[in-house]
Amino acid sequence: MWEMRGPVIVAPVLEVVVAEQCNLTCRACSHLSPVAPKNFANPVETGRALGVLYTAFHMKVVKLMGGEPLLHPDFAAVVAAIRSAAPAAELHLVTNGHLLSRMDLSEMDGIDQITVSIYASATIARSGRAALEQADRRGIRVVQQAMEQFNESYCEHPHSDPDMTRRIYRACKIAHDWNCFTLRAGFFYKCPQAYALTTVLGSAASGAHADNGVDLTDPAFADPAVLADRLHDYLSADQPLPACRHCLGSSGRAFRHEQLPRRLWRSAQSQAPSGLLT
Ligand code: SF4
Repeated sequence: MWEMRGPVIVAPVLEVVVAEQCNLTCRACSHLSPVAPKNFANPVETGRALGVLYTAFHMKVVKLMGGEPLLHPDFAAVVAAIRSAAPAAELHLVTNGHLLSRMDLSEMDGIDQITVSIYASATIARSGRAALEQADRRGIRVVQQAMEQFNESYCEHPHSDPDMTRRIYRACKIAHDWNCFTLRAGFFYKCPQAYALTTVLGSAASGAHADNGVDLTDPAFADPAVLADRLHDYLSADQPLPACRHCLGSSGRAFRHEQLPRRLWRSAQSQAPSGLLT
């Protein structure tokens, strides 16, 4: 959970979206990465936005997220920009591990931990496992997380009842408990769904990025106190975001993890919202 400590907000984790698309196609991925447009974090813009955010928001860990972050064509530059903007934070790479074997491990300099998501439906090749052992020998902590179950994440149809949207938002552990605060393209979001639903479904369905997040390029945020106030109001708001209209938050039905062909990915989320909820 986040808290105000004096003039700054302190939170355990900030997630930085490094590459939005993914080489895997997990059904109901909460970042909608299998159908996300090809977008990579600009290292300069990321460093600048994180520098502004850091004046009012301190995090213990920065997670480098995707999609699959190792798809980024200049991964080392993003790591260097983040390291320089948030020097006190630990850097954790969160990856599915499939591209590790093609990396030069010197690009991992500055990374403290590699968290590998292990999927039974997409096992990592022996070369990938060897790369993890090498990383471990270089002093990078390696943590493996078995992902056996996913939850339905969103619905292509909006909730017809505003009360349902409010209930989902108020029960949403992603926004309120799980520390999934996200930095993407100069904006701060309380959850990754707040940007991902707009990039995939469009702003008419899910609201503009400026309605779902905090634009860190606002010149008023040169004053850290103004930024801290804005972040506080945004994080403690009791009204849902526009993106919540299509989101299931943490209320989606659980299912056994599986891969889906990209062409079928969105149609799997086309049931009525009531059929996707717990
Ligand atoms: S979009 Fe709304 S319901 Fe979905 S994760 Fe974010 S806050 Fe929760």
